[in-house]
Amino acid sequence: MTFDSVRGRASEGWVTRTPSIVDRIRSSGDGRVPFSVEFSPPRDEAAEARLWRAVREFERMGPAFVSMTYGAGGSTRDRTVRVTGQLAEETTLLPVAHLTAVSHSVDELRSMVGAYADRGISNILVLRGDPPGDPLGEWQKHPEGVEYAEDLVRLVRDLGDFHVGVASFPEGHYRAPDLAHDTRYLVSKLRAGAEYSITQMFFDVDDYLRLRDRVSAYDPEQGAKPIIPEIMPITSLRSVRRMLELSGSSLPAQLEKRLAAAAGDGPEENRAAVREIGIDLATEMSERLIAEGAPGLHFITLNFARATSEVLARLGDKVGSGVADPAPVTPTPVS
Ligand SMILES: Cc1cc2nc3c(=O)[nH]c(=O)nc-3n(C[C@H](O)[C@H](O)[C@H](O)COP(=O)(O)OP(=O)(O)OC[C@H]3O[C@@H](n4cnc5c(N)ncnc54)[C@H](O)[C@@H]3O)c2cc1C
Repeated sequence: MTFDSVRGRASEGWVTRTPSIVDRIRSSGDGRVPFSVEFSPPRDEAAEARLWRAVREFERMGPAFVSMTYGAGGSTRDRTVRVTGQLAEETTLLPVAHLTAVSHSVDELRSMVGAYADRGISNILVLRGDPPGDPLGEWQKHPEGVEYAEDLVRLVRDLGDFHVGVASFPEGHYRAPDLAHDTRYLVSKLRAGAEYSITQMFFDVDDYLRLRDRVSAYDPEQGAKPIIPEIMPITSLRSVRRMLELSGSSLPAQLEKRLAAAAGDGPEENRAAVREIGIDLATEMSERLIAEGAPGLHFITLNFARATSEVLARLGDKVGSGVADPAPVTPTPVS
């Protein structure tokens, strides 16, 4: 595959042969719901070594795909592109590169896409991103950049044979004035050429089902595209609170109460007790999502395999793999 990273254009005859996410989840074959996992870019060498341990664990279990989030900041970005490239080149996994519009001109966005294409990556999860520093602060587009994810979907699609996914929000995006607005612009991203969406983490399956109904009611054709639910097996109350805060969201009151009681009020939270609730909840939510016909289950891993592998082991043969002959899933031992 060749890609002109300077001009940001696929050269003539350029084709990709990597499967798309939609093909992968639809052909998972054995009638079971496929799972996939999300990694985050490692910040330093120790974190990178830990990520690779998780990568090798998951490789054994056969996720349909793995995604790598995209953060702010130059050095993390270089590492992100390198590590995502290594996932494509040095593992059997199918990587999806997240890409945000934050602090990028259109030319820079083109060369980022080119950098991914050069490494054989054609699945891209297109996002607007949040303002650096204060994610809940006022969004300001790069003077030569794009305003909305929808514009970036078009840009990526115009560059070549890429398969694009977008974000969706079971409770509505925190900047959307209401759910009707949220639905309208999610559908715009899908109409612009996105093939599927992955949701933000949520803790009430009914929110996911209502999102699915809203999209189908607004536009049945776009509503037929997969909405892949994202699941967070909670292992720390402090860290899930922080993640939700940064995305303008919060835990449902009942769950917050249960987790806070389990965490206790000592200087350190009781991680074992929180974790037990988190794994039970992720398992119950997954079971219900499978029963409701979700097209896949996408797990946030924080670059650890253990919690997700425990949920998968409990789900047993309700979840399938995106690849042939995966190893049976057993919980990953504590490393
Ligand atoms: C699965 C998933 C993965 C993520 N990965 C990352 C990541 O790797 N890195 C990262 O920084 N962030 C990531 N995010 C967070 C995401 O960048 C933020 O939630 C961001 O605030 C919204 O991104 P978006 O792509 O949905 O934006 P958009 O779709 O552009 O929407 C942003 C807001 O504008 C509104 N809107 C959209 N189009 C229009 C329009 N034409 N007119 C008026 N209003 C409009 C929407 O309703 C919404 O309120 C992820 C989120 C999810 C759900």
